[in-house]
Amino acid sequence: MDNNKRKGKEIYEEPETVFTTGETSSSRVEETEGDYENVGSGAYYDYYDYESYDRWDWRDYDGVLGPVIDQRDQATCWAVAIVRVVQALLNIGVVVPQQLELSIQHIVNHVNFDAERGINNIRNALSFMKSSGVCLESRCRSHGRQLVRKNCTHQQHINYHKVDGFTHLTDFEDADLEDIVRRQPVIGLIPINAELHYYDFGRDMIYQHDRTTDPADPAVHNVLIVGFGNRNGRPYWIVQNSWGEDWGDRGYAYVYRQPISGRSISQFTEIIIPNKRDHPRPPGPKSGA
Ligand SMILES: [Zn+2]
Repeated sequence: MDNNKRKGKEIYEEPETVFTTGETSSSRVEETEGDYENVGSGAYYDYYDYESYDRWDWRDYDGVLGPVIDQRDQATCWAVAIVRVVQALLNIGVVVPQQLELSIQHIVNHVNFDAERGINNIRNALSFMKSSGVCLESRCRSHGRQLVRKNCTHQQHINYHKVDGFTHLTDFEDADLEDIVRRQPVIGLIPINAELHYYDFGRDMIYQHDRTTDPADPAVHNVLIVGFGNRNGRPYWIVQNSWGEDWGDRGYAYVYRQPISGRSISQFTEIIIPNKRDHPRPPGPKSGA
């Protein structure tokens, strides 16, 4: 039933990179202290203390995330996700207002993409971001129009921003991700379906799709995971989508997060984490900073 539970933690493409899922073992111990799946109306549980620890939201940090984009009918979620996840990494720890705004249009102009197979697009885009990088939005603008491919009009010899590599997690528990998301936003690949399109924040708040009904290789959509929290004991990831501010909670969704490892399947099929060795940011903001 569960095609996402191959044995072992699979990390590919950049085996030398700094993040391993083993780093988060301490958070797993804490996860087992409160079994929120068993918390009923009569049970005693100190939500307040747990929730103050068990939350993170990069929206609270000025200038790290860019505004919500509307990709409209263009299959460019991969471009939005990769540019925004790198932009966030480069902006963490940078003094306001000196953060960078990177050009999504530039990567759309240069990376071959195929609307039918989104997974290939993100692979091509990862290579481009490592080898060539992207310029600032001020150099290569979309002017608020659709992200359709065109020729760059700026000069070639300008400053491009890149990263050293990307770590991919394809077999993971959500608990593995919490410490990573506290350090930086990451890309999540989420199966795309009508439920996601019609996600109703006001009615359901937490999006949860039954992944056991998915085909073995579902079509996926790229989003940014920018934090996590709980509502009434139900844990969620905070996700920035690229379907405009009319979708979800002003462009964001709250996606079900596995409360305890092994109990359910992550809503994400893969996580992609950009790495940059010489970036002068601190090791990660302190909780509550
Ligand atoms: Zn350009």
